Amino acid sequence: MRHYHSYDELIRNNARWAVEKTRKDHKYFEMLSEYQAPPFLYIGCSDSRVPIDTLTQTEPGELFIHRNIANQVILTDINLLSAVEYAIEVLQVRHIVVCGHYECGGIAGAYHNNLRGLKENWTSRIKDLSRIHREELDSLPDEKARLDRLTELNVVDQVQNLFKISEIERLIEAGLQGGYYPRLHGWVLDLRSGLIKDLELPLQHWKANGVVPSNYQEY
Ligand SMILES: [Zn+2]
Repeated sequence: MRHYHSYDELIRNNARWAVEKTRKDHKYFEMLSEYQAPPFLYIGCSDSRVPIDTLTQTEPGELFIHRNIANQVILTDINLLSAVEYAIEVLQVRHIVVCGHYECGGIAGAYHNNLRGLKENWTSRIKDLSRIHREELDSLPDEKARLDRLTELNVVDQVQNLFKISEIERLIEAGLQGGYYPRLHGWVLDLRSGLIKDLELPLQHWKANGVVPSNYQEY
């Protein structure tokens, strides 16, 4: 059976961790507390099994993080929009990653239409996606494959929404004249292997539709 830490242990573990960090580098917290300049904005699911800093072996100060149920990028969500604005205007992150994960409760709940209350509102775009891509999803061999595919479609859709955020649009337009602009990426974490899949984005299609400027470079 799985062992969970007790509430007290969390505080004790933290104290032990702080001592250990200082022992290895006595200036660690002095430097950490001075400023942050993370190269990455990470937008992921709130799921407890997706702690992206553990999974990518990154340290405090490297990832600016925003999480919500099923990693949604909703263009009226002031929480997300202000995090994005801070990340690009103040921190000037080099990359923005939307990361979904297989076995996502938000994806499965939306697909089966069994989420109620605000959770249902929150995941309504995923329901739309499962309708829009019904034919492709139905052609897959089983439910696991359908949910996995819907997870990927959701990530791609949310990256597309990022491109529609006016601050990002403006930054890319200006950056293309010679300067800084962030690169956008879509990932899926496979909880069954612990591995991240870097999804191929339909950039040519988005460029043809005017969602992405034609000279935008992925890297
Ligand atoms: Zn999830």
